[in-house]
Amino acid sequence: MKIEKLDHVGIAVEKLDSALPIWEGVLGMVLAGTEEVVEQKVRTAFLPLGGSEIELLEPTDPESPIAKFIAAKGQGVQHLAFRVADLDAALAELKAKGVRLIDEAPRRGAGGARIAFLHPKSTGGVLIELCERG
Ligand code: ZN
Repeated sequence: MKIEKLDHVGIAVEKLDSALPIWEGVLGMVLAGTEEVVEQKVRTAFLPLGGSEIELLEPTDPESPIAKFIAAKGQGVQHLAFRVADLDAALAELKAKGVRLIDEAPRRGAGGARIAFLHPKSTGGVLIELCERG
């Protein structure tokens, strides 16, 4: 498996409207767009940064994984996303290595990407997303 780049950093926020003034107003980043990902019960906002992105994640439902993350740990960095060329091959390779996967098969993420999460228990406590963009 070859990781091509840091695709984005996912940050859990209670409200995009409260978070964006920090990222845009204080840090001077530019909002590229927002998108609701119904399957994951989140609304996302993307702020590109040097070939990667900051991805803000606002829960749209109390059962959203992001809502549960905020309830347990508060707002903040939630996951790192690495870009791979072939997500199916990467998952097969990691599975063969005994890495615990949250997603055994790819699912749809924001921006039409195919994504899968690795279990933090297998990665030293870091929630890692692999993503493949067409
Ligand atoms: Zn992500």
